[in-house]
Amino acid sequence: MEPWQHSLRNSLTDPTQLASRFALDPAPLLAVAQRYPLRITPYYLALLEGPGDPLWRQCVPDPAELAADGLFSDPLNEAQLSPVPGLVHRYPDRALLLTTATCALYCRFCTRKRAIGCGDQPADFTAALSYIARTPGLHEVILSGGDPLLLDDDRLDDLLSRLRTIPHIETIRIHSRVPVVLPERITEKLAALLGRYHPLYLNTHFNHPRELTEEAAQACGRLAAAGIPLGNQSVLLRGVNDDAETLRSLFRGLLRLRVRPYYLHHGDLVAGTAHLRTTIETGLKLVAALRNTLPGMAIPQYVIDLPGGRGKVPLLPDAIKQLGATAIIRAANGDRVAIANPGQDEVARR
Ligand SMILES: *Cc1c(COP(=O)(O)O)cnc(C)c1O
Ligand code: SF4
Repeated sequence: MEPWQHSLRNSLTDPTQLASRFALDPAPLLAVAQRYPLRITPYYLALLEGPGDPLWRQCVPDPAELAADGLFSDPLNEAQLSPVPGLVHRYPDRALLLTTATCALYCRFCTRKRAIGCGDQPADFTAALSYIARTPGLHEVILSGGDPLLLDDDRLDDLLSRLRTIPHIETIRIHSRVPVVLPERITEKLAALLGRYHPLYLNTHFNHPRELTEEAAQACGRLAAAGIPLGNQSVLLRGVNDDAETLRSLFRGLLRLRVRPYYLHHGDLVAGTAHLRTTIETGLKLVAALRNTLPGMAIPQYVIDLPGGRGKVPLLPDAIKQLGATAIIRAANGDRVAIANPGQDEVARR
């Protein structure tokens, strides 16, 4: 067994253990964990300071998860968009391959909390791969999950090499939270393995600057050194990262790790996650506050994934105040700036 597999096996899954470590009442934790399981890696557990801290809120069961909020367990309609088990095909050119039903740590805000940790994913990819092979409009496969980097090296190698036999698949993308919660999984050997399947991109998922540890930096460094362009998808979370200073330090820190902030997700309308969502107004204010105070490269797109599988839409602070021969655009400091905006006829005459 490799050291990371050992860590995974030693993850905390028993609510009573967590309760005794932090002198808490185990009953509420047990009630929530029965519905939505708990798993925290030894590495991440050591980063926790105590109830309510921004890392705690991401991984410790909260009774609010059981609130009857009238929301859906599958708001993105992934089950409907699944032509074969384990594949979600929503956009014409790319598809998500759900590689495992498990993650190193179970995030309380997860969009797939209905399925993560419940082990209902198929163990073999034959049907998904054959669908991908007979769908020439697909140019990218995103390995998602669960966490694809929990596959062992041999299975990953096998899956990637089978994908690479499909000529119309140009790029492969991996979505993994492993660099954040189980950085020891990113071995030199894994980085070299992934580097054999370029062009291969990896998006990870840091939500708070305290997650940018030396270990995480080394994990990202090994991937970057293997030539893998790194991106980050954060989720905007109440009580975790919903203030401008935290986001600024997260995004600036990611650039230092050679990870480019890609998306800031507005929380999906998933049952059991309402306590972690902010309003869209809050998100827009935060994004506006970041503009011009960080390199553009450090500012992710703020996006919402519409319910019913209708796709991601960027949410932008409304900068356009007027269009026409004179356009009025609002500057980051609030000034309204008039600029000439010649009409179609004039543009065509040039
Ligand atoms: C988010 C998502 C993708 C990837 O979208 P990008 O905007 O390319 O990052 C692909 N398929 C599904 C079903 C998704 O939810
Ligand atoms: S790593 Fe991603 S898929 Fe896994 S529990 Fe966290 S948010 Fe969900």
